[in-house]
Amino acid sequence: MDAGVITEPTFRESVDMMFNRAVALMELPPGLEDKIRVCNSTYMVRFGVKLRGSIHTFTGYRSVHSEHMEPVKGGIRYSLGVNQDEVEALAALMTYKCALVETPFGGSKGGLCIDPRQYDEDELERITRRFAYELAKRHLIDPAQNVPAPDMGTGEREMAWIADQYARMNTTDINAKACVTGKPPHAGGIQGRVEATGRGVQYALQEFFRHPEDIAAAGLSGTLDGKRVVVQGLGNVGYHAAKFLREEDGSIVTGIIERDGALVSDDGIDVEAVHKWIANHGGVKGFPDATFIEDGASVLEKDCDILVPAALEGVINLGNAARVTAPLIIEAANGPVTAGADEILRNKGTVIIPDMYANAGGVTVSYFEWVKNLSHIRFGRMQRRQEEARHLLIVDELQRLSDNLGDAWSMTGDFKDKYLRGAGELELVRSGLDDTMRSAYQAMREVWHGRDDVSDLRTAAYIVSISRVADSYRAKGL
Ligand code: GLU
Repeated sequence: MDAGVITEPTFRESVDMMFNRAVALMELPPGLEDKIRVCNSTYMVRFGVKLRGSIHTFTGYRSVHSEHMEPVKGGIRYSLGVNQDEVEALAALMTYKCALVETPFGGSKGGLCIDPRQYDEDELERITRRFAYELAKRHLIDPAQNVPAPDMGTGEREMAWIADQYARMNTTDINAKACVTGKPPHAGGIQGRVEATGRGVQYALQEFFRHPEDIAAAGLSGTLDGKRVVVQGLGNVGYHAAKFLREEDGSIVTGIIERDGALVSDDGIDVEAVHKWIANHGGVKGFPDATFIEDGASVLEKDCDILVPAALEGVINLGNAARVTAPLIIEAANGPVTAGADEILRNKGTVIIPDMYANAGGVTVSYFEWVKNLSHIRFGRMQRRQEEARHLLIVDELQRLSDNLGDAWSMTGDFKDKYLRGAGELELVRSGLDDTMRSAYQAMREVWHGRDDVSDLRTAAYIVSISRVADSYRAKGL
């Protein structure tokens, strides 16, 4: 084993080290630093479910990092790697993430130690409902106190089971649907939630490329068009991010790293085709239109413009950081770069767009879903047709003008159709997400460029978040 890997801190220690770097540059009242850093509580539960004729025992966690705002928010992960250290690190990141993108939540995270691929749908439903029961009876699922969401290994299906389980246990709670986000649209969810985290990664990069000074800091130039992108993990986040960057921004996906190996092609890889290939074959091996590389992790070191780690934590560590050549890394996953690797990369001048910002699209749209559930009405329902009617007035006037002017002037092609269409829920969600990603980036870069003692976006992000959390504790009189 590489000697460097042995000295690597745990995920939670890594997050704390990054927190400490930032807090050393701030002037917080004595003691507040510790109060913010520590995880308030972690609940661990072991429960049994009768499956295939015998009782199977599962271990689950729900960690609450900070209750400076309630409810607390964060996903539930299904993975064999789940442990207390991991959920606490992820819960802490949720606190900072929510503060950075101004969603009014504290931070939380949950996990179940399970390989979901080992169970069929009925079994997973029983396990999920039982886990939800354990959490809900302790208010660790509750619209006003703790609102889970999807994470690695979970999705709309699990969230629908959790929402239903909560509703069965709280039959008179009119806000029951707001107990969890990431539900399917037909079960109280919102349009655009599934794509939200990947969409947020795209919006984050678009915003980055609006600032010439920042592009230059990464040693890059131009726009996203033609940029070579390597993505690790074609799960929900990586798939959507890579797909949107390729199809809408003209980026070229030159590498895709998956569980069973990687695909590379300098001509670009069709993300949609690989996604389908994985669904049918269980991995990327054998995909005809790219070169397969057995040692997938080595592709993290491939020459490219933008590296998008969208899988697990700790994949860029002391063992490989020095060999990672991408000038720009966007952390679509939570914690993909360890504290030690972060230092190596910083010293090399690599620009890292940090996780707490880069993947905040998910919780942002979760916030919209929660508000929708509490208001019991779909976004746009009241104003859409009224907006269309007002637009029609202008279009009619323009039409009159154009008729009078004859050949001298007319409306361009599809202007009429585009302008007339009132925004539906999906357009509103995307607009709210775009606005959120832009504002949060600007808050970070103000600190990045505005302070001589801050040389990276991660420290800037922590400073913005921690000062917001501190303000909220101060206001509460702590
Ligand atoms: N699991 C996602 C995250 O890590 C989403 C959390 C949420 O929507 O509450 O940010």
